[in-house]
Amino acid sequence: MDTKLEHKRHTLAHLLAASVLIDYPHAKLTLGPAIENGFYYDIDFSDGDTPGDNDLKKIQKHMKKMLGQWTSFEHEEVTADEARMIFKDNPFKLELIDEIQKRGEKITLYTAGKGTKSEFTDLCRGGHCENPAEEIAADAFKLDKIAGAYWRGDEKNPMLTRIYGLAFDTKDELDTYLEQVEEAKKRDHRKLGKELDLFTFSELVGAGLPLFTPKGTLMRDLIVDKIMQIQEKYGYQKVTIPHITKSDLYKTSGHWEKFSDDLFKVKGKSDAEFVMKPMNCPHHTQIFSSSPKSYKDLPVRYAETTMVYRDEQAGELIGLGRVRSITQDDGHVFCTPEQIEQEVKNIVYVIQEFYESLNMYNEGDFWVSLSARDPKEPEKYLGGEDIWNKAESILEGIAKELNLPCTKVEGEAAFYGPKLDFMFKDALGRERQLATAQLDFVMPERFGLEYTDQQGNKQQPVMIHRAIAGSLERFMSIMIEHFAGNFPLWLSPVQVAIIPVADVHNNYAQEVHKELTEAGFRVDLYTENESMGKKIRAAKKAKLPYFIVIGDKETENKTVTLESRDTKESYTYSLPELLDRLKKEL
Ligand SMILES: [Zn+2]
Ligand SMILES: [Zn+2]
Repeated sequence: MDTKLEHKRHTLAHLLAASVLIDYPHAKLTLGPAIENGFYYDIDFSDGDTPGDNDLKKIQKHMKKMLGQWTSFEHEEVTADEARMIFKDNPFKLELIDEIQKRGEKITLYTAGKGTKSEFTDLCRGGHCENPAEEIAADAFKLDKIAGAYWRGDEKNPMLTRIYGLAFDTKDELDTYLEQVEEAKKRDHRKLGKELDLFTFSELVGAGLPLFTPKGTLMRDLIVDKIMQIQEKYGYQKVTIPHITKSDLYKTSGHWEKFSDDLFKVKGKSDAEFVMKPMNCPHHTQIFSSSPKSYKDLPVRYAETTMVYRDEQAGELIGLGRVRSITQDDGHVFCTPEQIEQEVKNIVYVIQEFYESLNMYNEGDFWVSLSARDPKEPEKYLGGEDIWNKAESILEGIAKELNLPCTKVEGEAAFYGPKLDFMFKDALGRERQLATAQLDFVMPERFGLEYTDQQGNKQQPVMIHRAIAGSLERFMSIMIEHFAGNFPLWLSPVQVAIIPVADVHNNYAQEVHKELTEAGFRVDLYTENESMGKKIRAAKKAKLPYFIVIGDKETENKTVTLESRDTKESYTYSLPELLDRLKKEL
């Protein structure tokens, strides 16, 4: 956020607080920061009326009126005791004052609109417009919604009322944002997923545990098969692991200490402690170490698409966006330090080919984060200085050589190694991290992995974790919203609808259906006794890439008329021409 806009948003939080006090003089103000797209203020209304969504218009009216009188924003420094006197009835502000004093910082009060009817003073550390009336466009902000929020985000604290506002530099920008929100609602994967019959949830099964319908399962398989087909040429082999494991595995890997709260524990007959696996890497190390390895065996590349389970907070589960059963398209490479470069390059090639097939790998549509150490906190990372320096420079070299739009982001590395994270922009301009390649120097050490080098000495391999789609659930939620359900031909669960105009055309329609199905296409034949219009509407609602209407002319000439969902154009083909055309697109 640029500073000027941040100042406007922060100033508007003050303006909101001042306006709330007009109709709710009992309200106790707490904190009100600028945030992405706007601002909020957390307020305690427990001593009287609490505003609802219907009251936002009224508060907003006060804001616009007051704004005209806020031609200044002045500040004065006060002592802690003076501040305590001023805010003596507000326990929240008193708590803040104590904290500021403890930190030894100055205590400042900011007053807007001094000497006017709209004068308002708040405890604040600054960052406002100097002349709000002049700088803030009165039509470029809007109160948005009301939500509950615990004081300082802690559920042990009192629940406050959070009023959100949207704010931009101009009315146009505000309008564009509001349009985007509307479009996002239309594309919401929870809504479209239901309409397209891809997945469902059941209260009996539980929150965050999606069930995939035949169509949704087909889509998952299409994604997995595509990735496997691309990476096969780079020597990946499939492996399979069980979904539960003794907790010892994660105690050895170190995950137990860090994540044991998020694990699902499983009780069996024995005393052994079992958990549902939250990740696959530790299991894969055990396949690697099951037989002695020499330098000639490396690199070893395992791939597996499998579910992991994490006990996410119930309040944070959103459709497929965040779930408790997460399907990872996982892969691990075990290699020598000299092989890192080629292996990471191969992963980048797989990412490139996969996202090209989705038309998402275009300039400006993605960037790559070289997630490196924070040089100021070297103690946060495990592994020697030398190997870190080398690994980061290898990743930098690859990014340069492959012309990746890469930015080094310090402090974003995992504690076990640096990584390349691929960030893609969706159709609404939202940035999503999807693919990743991560170097790991720690897990091989934890599990004592080794290979024999050319001189007959034991060496420790490097491990590379890689994901192409990331979690299938999240990936599908992003694809559904990105394409608004209009998937590319290869990803569409059903690719073509065949619609006979009347019963007399059914025979030829079946012939076309057979031909296409035998050629490997996924085709729906609409022979139900429905009207033409109804059949076409059903095909359109299902967002199929193509539909074929078969009437007298087509039956007579043994042709088909192919209509495209995307271009709305129609073409007449013979059957061989049709197959040719569809195959070419794939
Ligand atoms: Zn302020
Ligand atoms: Zn891994």
